[in-house]
Amino acid sequence: MIADNLSEVQKRIAKAALVAGRRPEDITLIAVSKTHPAEAVRMAIAAGQKIFGENRVQEAEAKFSDIRNAFPDIALHLIGPLQTNKVKEAVALFDVIHTLDRPKLAAALAKEMARQNRTPRLFVEVNIGAEDQKAGILPEHTADFIRLCCEEHGLRIEGLMCIPPHQDDPRPYFEKLRQLAEDNSLSKLSMGMSSDFESAIECGATHVRVGTAIFGTREKV
Ligand SMILES: *Cc1c(COP(=O)(O)O)cnc(C)c1O
Repeated sequence: MIADNLSEVQKRIAKAALVAGRRPEDITLIAVSKTHPAEAVRMAIAAGQKIFGENRVQEAEAKFSDIRNAFPDIALHLIGPLQTNKVKEAVALFDVIHTLDRPKLAAALAKEMARQNRTPRLFVEVNIGAEDQKAGILPEHTADFIRLCCEEHGLRIEGLMCIPPHQDDPRPYFEKLRQLAEDNSLSKLSMGMSSDFESAIECGATHVRVGTAIFGTREKV
């Protein structure tokens, strides 16, 4: 079933790309395996998927340590909040971190990346709907924060990531993130989940993070 779901999602990505006049291969599908067991990940790998997203450092470590030994070309993306006390493990484990969202974390990442001589690629998470409870840099502070990351900490920021407000039409938020990226000369956009990845692709997403449509529904955590 996972193999079928994956191929269905890939077809939908390709179609959305073509509708938007984009090349399907310019869109990276991150299979979000959070809460699902290692066996589910192995089934996705057997179906050809190589890029996975997790939102907790410890869960990812436990799930992927054997898998990564067996499949060295698997890439792992952190898409959930990162506490500074987990930065060491995160830098060691992840190839891409989508949730750089505050100065203290930028400092901790820079220090740990130098110490481990590892450079996970970095996305800045933007609180695109300026929601009280949500992580991310406010849109109006994004330019300053990117500058701080680069100039103060020598970090190279690759793109922006967002999770739009739950109940709203996501498109205006995707458009806004795209504009912010353009204003800051960033080429990568991590946006779009199971319910809205086609809209995200039409608005310029380069990375879509899809869980439910591949692995099925999750237990509430
Ligand atoms: C869980 C999660 C996803 C995947 O969500 P689905 O709706 O299951 O596709 C994408 N992005 C983030 C940040 C997530 O936490």
